[in-house]
Amino acid sequence: MKEMLKTIEQNALQSIRNISDLEQLEKIRVQFLGKKGELTQVLRGMGKLSKEERPIVGQVANEVREKIEKELEKTKNALKTAQKDIKLKKERIDISMPGNKKVIGHRHPLLTVKEELETVFMNMGFDVVEGPEIETVYNNFDALNSPENHPSRDLSDTFYITEQILLRTHTSPVQIRVMKQIQSPIKIVSAGRTFRFDEVDDTHSPMFHQLEGLVVDKNITIANLKHTIDMFIKELFGSDMKTRFRPHYFPFTEPSAEVDVSCLKCRGEGCDCCHKTGWDMELLGCGMVHPRVLENCGIDPEVYSGFAFGLGVDRIAMVKYGINNIRLLFENDMRFLNQF
Ligand SMILES: [Zn+2]
Repeated sequence: MKEMLKTIEQNALQSIRNISDLEQLEKIRVQFLGKKGELTQVLRGMGKLSKEERPIVGQVANEVREKIEKELEKTKNALKTAQKDIKLKKERIDISMPGNKKVIGHRHPLLTVKEELETVFMNMGFDVVEGPEIETVYNNFDALNSPENHPSRDLSDTFYITEQILLRTHTSPVQIRVMKQIQSPIKIVSAGRTFRFDEVDDTHSPMFHQLEGLVVDKNITIANLKHTIDMFIKELFGSDMKTRFRPHYFPFTEPSAEVDVSCLKCRGEGCDCCHKTGWDMELLGCGMVHPRVLENCGIDPEVYSGFAFGLGVDRIAMVKYGINNIRLLFENDMRFLNQF
């Protein structure tokens, strides 16, 4: 029996030394020391031994068990250390490798232009105010002296929510809100989204952006209007820019004008872009606030006067960046937006 135990010891130690992973090691442990293991089987047979032999064989068996257990433990630790080393090597961080850059967005060109416009006007002493995009029909049309039969009031031109509520067709109702609230003196600009039932093409979109300005005080004349527009255009595009006023009709101003500015490409020399005229047409609309609009807001037109102007923020962005299609501004195509 002693020999059997020695053979088991040798076999076990031999097997353990040939092992390369923890899973195999556990199998070996079960094979020799498990409930049905080789050593256990031998120990079960001890009952057949004589009283004298039993303690001697028992001692040998314990020694063998201890040796095997020790060897198992040793190998287990060695394997674990080796595994850890492999893992560390695998997960080693090469700090000289280029990192993963986080993509941080940037301002949309429209927002940049809107803020630039607002800054120019703030530097000229204007306050920046905001108004709701959902308006009353009264503020959007009636208060602004827009006649009942004006084509822009038609269902085919305007997004009505109810008979009395609509998506504002211009930023002008902000003027009404401010005049009713502040009376005078007023010197504000307001920019935001506006909505019209426009077919989408290169220059039209059912949603677009306007910036509106309003000045109301005593002794405001058309000279103040012209000076303000002229200053604004020079601030925005450069001091060599010229402005040209052409008579026009708006229901809420009288007299009214459309303003052309020097072609940005040729600075007034004449090029293909401006059809050799040297002018960029209809960049903004303006006029002296209609006395009836002042009256509608409780301001006495005999004492006070004012001027107003409006321009397309999208249009300015397109002119400024040389964008030829308004849709590009709203499609959120990163290939386009990343250029700004
Ligand atoms: Zn030109």
